[in-house]
Amino acid sequence: MRFVSTRGQTSPLSFSEAVATGLAPDGGLLVPENLPGIGDLLPSWASLDYPSLCDQFFRLFATDLSEGELRPMIDRAYGGFDHPDIAPLRPIGDGRYVLELFHGPTLAFKDFALQFLGRLYGRQIRETGRPINVLGATSGDTGAAAIHGLLHLEGVRQFVLYPKGRISDLQERQMACTGSDHVFPLAIDGSFDDTQRIVKTIFGDGAFKVRHGLSAVNSINLARVLAQCVYYLYAWLRLNSSERTDVTFVVPTGNFGNVLAGWLCHRMGVPGLRFRVATNRNDILYRFFTTGIYSVREVESSLAPSMDIQIASNFERYLFYLAGGDSRRIRDVMTRLSEEGRLEWTLTADDRFDATRSSDDEILDQIRRVHDEYGFLIDPHTACGFTCPGEGRTEIILATASPAKFPSVMKAAVGEAPRHPNLEDLKARPMNIHSLPAEVDAVRAFITDHLPS
Ligand SMILES: *Cc1c(COP(=O)(O)O)cnc(C)c1O
Repeated sequence: MRFVSTRGQTSPLSFSEAVATGLAPDGGLLVPENLPGIGDLLPSWASLDYPSLCDQFFRLFATDLSEGELRPMIDRAYGGFDHPDIAPLRPIGDGRYVLELFHGPTLAFKDFALQFLGRLYGRQIRETGRPINVLGATSGDTGAAAIHGLLHLEGVRQFVLYPKGRISDLQERQMACTGSDHVFPLAIDGSFDDTQRIVKTIFGDGAFKVRHGLSAVNSINLARVLAQCVYYLYAWLRLNSSERTDVTFVVPTGNFGNVLAGWLCHRMGVPGLRFRVATNRNDILYRFFTTGIYSVREVESSLAPSMDIQIASNFERYLFYLAGGDSRRIRDVMTRLSEEGRLEWTLTADDRFDATRSSDDEILDQIRRVHDEYGFLIDPHTACGFTCPGEGRTEIILATASPAKFPSVMKAAVGEAPRHPNLEDLKARPMNIHSLPAEVDAVRAFITDHLPS
């Protein structure tokens, strides 16, 4: 299997090269040259446990890895999850289910991709003999998941920028209390946009990037999307045959990476799937799916901070498939989007996703309602998935984070905050944080000073 860029101006890459590359050199995103059909394989996959399913699925893509290399990486990636099913599917009645994706080490679904990506990076370092260092910006969950996904890699240093005072205390502790002197959480005096701008500028300096072996661990890495396909398959396979024919996955959405993974399963031949994107007040994707117009506005902060995003990075992959793989059209559209902050697309009924959005008040209401009706707590991101009642189809709502990560929102909604032992343990540990101004030069100097010369 080879991987090509959505913008068509990068030579095809192997799986390992695609993992190492992240963003394609022509500015596009990498996609499989041909999506394999998996419809015929589904019956034989029905009885597999999570790691075995993941192994079977990745064999279709990671064809340059030798036999037997994948499985140990998968076992280690998911060995640290605290539920035997890895991604348990919890029935809540009336044909509705909650797919719990928060049983990984940082209690958010990003662990599914980043635990595995960490193992793939480990292999890359062993094969090439070249160390990597990670530079990234986070609005909370990605940074923690990346840090914990790569923590075991000897010699790898991680620099993660976040907006000071704008992530939750526990999210900050997940990054700052690892006890590792190779992890550098950088509290930036500015907004999430500032942190992203700084990271982008530093990556734009090719010489600096190469000299320091810097690598990004962001949601555009194809391995992340593919790792997320597996829990859609796993959930679908848990349903009985009558439920499987009409399934809506409801996906709390920001960067469009998670829901894209589900949609790729549909494109690969899993029958009966529909998708509903659930946004918070940053509703660019809601507006797109209801009007066909994608127009960028200012990001507003909300109670679901990991979805406070206006440029959905993975959206380009979706458009590429809608355009039938016409990379020239994607180049035109993406150029216009970056110049005008807007694009228009005519969607067919088959390509359209359902969409909902939730204000902060609605997020609080939904947390309360689920608590009262079903007797359990959902986090503020997952709450966006509960905006409307089921519609008679089987409905699987993705629970993207543990409510224990957001105690103040839980208290505001229901007057109590759940606890999780992983997080309680963090509260007693010393914090290791570096405060920096929102200036490229300050961050650049910090990195240079903290890498071995
Ligand atoms: C990142 C994140 C999301 C959004 O996922 P995307 O792939 O960016 O759409 C939703 N919920 C939580 C808890 C997250 O951390």
